[in-house]
Amino acid sequence: MNKIVVIGLGSFGMNLIKTLSKKNIELIAVDINKDRVNEIKDLATQPVTMDATNKDNLKSLGLKDVDCVVVACGPNLEASILIVHLLSEIGINRIIAKALTEDHERILSLVGANEILFPERDIAVKLANQLVSPNLMDYIPLESGFVIEELAPPDFFIGKTLEQISMRKKFNINVIGIKQIIPDMSSPDSIPDTDSGLTLNPGGNFLIKDSDILIVLGTIEAVEKLHTKLNSKT
Ligand code: ADP
Repeated sequence: MNKIVVIGLGSFGMNLIKTLSKKNIELIAVDINKDRVNEIKDLATQPVTMDATNKDNLKSLGLKDVDCVVVACGPNLEASILIVHLLSEIGINRIIAKALTEDHERILSLVGANEILFPERDIAVKLANQLVSPNLMDYIPLESGFVIEELAPPDFFIGKTLEQISMRKKFNINVIGIKQIIPDMSSPDSIPDTDSGLTLNPGGNFLIKDSDILIVLGTIEAVEKLHTKLNSKT
């Protein structure tokens, strides 16, 4: 069974705990504030009130077989930096920390965070992209300059097959999946693979409807080029 520790039960940590509590994992929830710990006491396997900037306190959690520790201490930058440093000294393999500023992000990385979340910036970037590209519904940046995006098909895609729109040839972008909000069961090419209406690796004969969502994979440059094209046509 997975064992995950969440340190800092502000709105971020609380939401993490609420979601993780529905999975089959061992969950340790830590905060210096006992009221916050009380709020989640029925959701975590081990709710703990303590100051996590103290190394002995951290060690008392029995972190040896822990898969991952998430540090989300909000505006207390000093605490999150110190906690990440101590976790790294203790030898935790996967430390995920929440940053509030770019300097904070840099320091967390220097003291041993393996992954850094910067939700305020990431959500702002996502919103900015969606505001300027009306077709863009969601995107996931990947390592090494690739991105997966969910796109509402523009009008000039509708009624055409994937082969006809030839995204790979024209934009060097692969359509890796299609979500059908209203599944078309009339043609073998469009019957979804899952009950939720998802077709993975759709074939060239897949006919695009206005209620479909295209899931595409490409480099950042390639998808930006596609958005420029889509915006110029709408
Ligand atoms: P966010 O909105 O980013 O979740 P909050 O400020 O609401 O931020 O929450 C941060 C949480 O981190 C608070 O509940 C606070 O008590 C907790 N915290 C801060 N410092 C420590 C510490 N040294 N040890 C444990 N928890 C801490």
